[in-house]
Amino acid sequence: MPKSFHPPQRTLLGPGPSDVSPRVLEAMARPTIGHLDPLFVAMMDELKGMLQYAFRTQNALTLPVSAPGSAGMETAFVNLVEAGDQVIVCQNGVFGGRMKENVERCGAIPIMVEDAWGQPVNPNRLEDTLKAHPGVRTVAFVQAETSTGVESDSRTLVEVAHRHDCLAIVDAVTALAGTPVEVDKWGIDAVYAGSQKCLSCTPGLSPVSFNAAAVERIRKRTHKVQSWFLDLNLIMGYWGTGTKRTYHHTAPINALYGLHEALVMLQEEGIENAWARHQRNYEALRDGLEAMGLTLLVEPAHRLPQLNAVRVPEGVNEAAVRDALLNDYSIEIGAGLGPLAGKIWRIGLMGQASNPRNVCILLSALENILSAQGHSLDRGAAISAARAALVGMATEPFG
Ligand SMILES: *Cc1c(COP(=O)(O)O)cnc(C)c1O
Repeated sequence: MPKSFHPPQRTLLGPGPSDVSPRVLEAMARPTIGHLDPLFVAMMDELKGMLQYAFRTQNALTLPVSAPGSAGMETAFVNLVEAGDQVIVCQNGVFGGRMKENVERCGAIPIMVEDAWGQPVNPNRLEDTLKAHPGVRTVAFVQAETSTGVESDSRTLVEVAHRHDCLAIVDAVTALAGTPVEVDKWGIDAVYAGSQKCLSCTPGLSPVSFNAAAVERIRKRTHKVQSWFLDLNLIMGYWGTGTKRTYHHTAPINALYGLHEALVMLQEEGIENAWARHQRNYEALRDGLEAMGLTLLVEPAHRLPQLNAVRVPEGVNEAAVRDALLNDYSIEIGAGLGPLAGKIWRIGLMGQASNPRNVCILLSALENILSAQGHSLDRGAAISAARAALVGMATEPFG
């Protein structure tokens, strides 16, 4: 007879999921109640308010889709794009490729703006492409490309899209709560995120937000959204305002308790403080890695503090290092994807996992493993550099 499954305690320093706080896990173990129970509905309203806080928006259409980040992506595309539309997709890594797939599956025509993996989306190239294709109505890009550790300039890209009367769809799955995502200030029309990256909740939920222009686009659709489950017109019957909620699907009750708790923790810390914490721990990690003779893939100006792409040094076996981290230290980091496979490691410092202790544990484990593999390094230098960075840092939030 199969026995209960008891996973080990890992330290999750990969591209997601990130470490989940015991507070979130405890919240998820509370009693399941009905999805139309008035107490549950009140919890949903509070959850919505906290998502508006995280997205920095007043958008009424802000809610968690009952499925992972990929479903948030699909929600944005199936609701805003119609068959025959031309959509510009900016691609500089894995997730732009998935956006292209979504556009095609909506029966629309993707027009690609491509940048090298490891580079941010180039706003000038976007502008030129918009000028060359005056029929385009939608622009989509990834703010935080988890496959490469690059941040693109959302504010500028949205501005360019709006200059050409396009709606902007922004992937903020890895960005949200790790680095600023200013939905209202930047005028982002549609945005989606994930519960398991910098929000440090369990995987399986995708917070989304749509502004008035996006809602107007949905209202004026000439054909029904082809996905019944992700049709926002129907979902709003359940997540909309007021006390009268209609059944759409059974909400993932306990998962939503978890997200609620993760968002309570974000509010307690203050989102600006969370951004500052991600930045500080990145700086400590960077100094430690550099002291070990390692280099980061991305130019300093475009680096994500929550996802660090580290070049695998000459003569080191990339996969063997990850295996040793997992088996001997119970630490998970990520591998490179696509053209970067075998060339980089992806070290995440996301959400709860972004803390000085994890920086030091990882550096020390990596030092042992790399030196056993014959990579010459100055023992102890990495921890000293990281400690020096942490001690020298101001702790107040970024202004
Ligand atoms: C993780 C991720 C996704 C997909 O999220 P899932 O929860 O795995 O479906 C989409 N976009 C980006 C940038 C991501 O990092």
